[in-house]
Amino acid sequence: MSDNPSFVLRAVEDVIYEDRPIPEIFDDEVLVEVKKTGICGSDVHYLAHGRIADFVVEKPMVLGHESAGIVSKVGKKVKNVKAGDRVAMEPGATCRICEDCKRGKYELCPDIIFAATPPYDGTLCRYYRIPGDLVYKLPDNLTLEDGAMMEPLSVAVHVVANIAGFRSNQTCVVFGAGPVGLLCMAVAKALGASRVIAVDIVQQRLDFAKNYAATETYLPPSFQQGESRMEYSQRNAKQMREQLGIEDRGPNAIDLVIDASGAEVSIQTGILIARTGGTYVQVGMGAPEVTIPITLLLVKEINFKGSFRYGPGDYALAIALAGQGKIDLKPLITHRFAFTDAIAAFNTTKAGKSPDGKGVIKAIISGPDVPLNEY
Ligand SMILES: [Zn+2]
Ligand SMILES: [Zn+2]
Repeated sequence: MSDNPSFVLRAVEDVIYEDRPIPEIFDDEVLVEVKKTGICGSDVHYLAHGRIADFVVEKPMVLGHESAGIVSKVGKKVKNVKAGDRVAMEPGATCRICEDCKRGKYELCPDIIFAATPPYDGTLCRYYRIPGDLVYKLPDNLTLEDGAMMEPLSVAVHVVANIAGFRSNQTCVVFGAGPVGLLCMAVAKALGASRVIAVDIVQQRLDFAKNYAATETYLPPSFQQGESRMEYSQRNAKQMREQLGIEDRGPNAIDLVIDASGAEVSIQTGILIARTGGTYVQVGMGAPEVTIPITLLLVKEINFKGSFRYGPGDYALAIALAGQGKIDLKPLITHRFAFTDAIAAFNTTKAGKSPDGKGVIKAIISGPDVPLNEY
């Protein structure tokens, strides 16, 4: 492998290693030698379907966007890092001049250049060029794998701290105990939650959540014959209230509901169990359209919100929470792959488990020529 080996998606289920030129940097940019990259659902989705919503892969694209590495070159105007620094990379370069950028909601920038979102190349390569302000120096006690995990952790920080404005001693329920759901639980706990209830249809995932950051878990019942989704959700919410002692008001009420599953029945159940005046945040992507109990949402004055990627301050808070030992990212890294085995990382993530039966939470791919055990 020579200059800049890159893992490129050419078409659906068609990937290849290409040797790309090493990018030239501008004065406000840095060149990062990518060392660790986490694989997430969106990467797998592009490989399997070639598109997510309106983002369609029309020309070859380097995959990967959850990365950390070592700064190899800095532009003249960059002051926050120097060559040799270990950094987490925030993979969305925004325009800085649009209305959304200027009002501090840069995640909504229509001109964002986001890694591995068509047509822009991702980070599964040796050298990645990035604006200097989007790399964050890692504290000495965090590994480069931790650094790669800052991307999904920032998604969770955005949900809990930024969009929901969660405060200490509040309660929350998280639907979906995948990587983002688990990280939302971890952030809620780190911010002082009094209760963190994990909901998932897989008992194994609940067991993991309980050991990780949840104070309680809940396994929903199965569907009954002839029951509509909304009827199921009503029954599910009732059972959840009884089993967990959840009320509409007072200390046993749920201040924050997070859906990290995208499942219609979770969304419905979430609205049914949220407290009066509570907050509901959607972060899971699933069915593009769902039916919700809108009148209940109205009479309970629920703050119903969406959460997309991350915005100002989210990466910094994610690094601080992990650096201070309030969130441990290591238990979430279940699988490691060499750069030359990148396709195996995708297949394992897609299957949800490796051939030995071990469930995947997060698979990490090492950079070109980086040993698996070099963190
Ligand atoms: Zn991701
Ligand atoms: Zn913008």
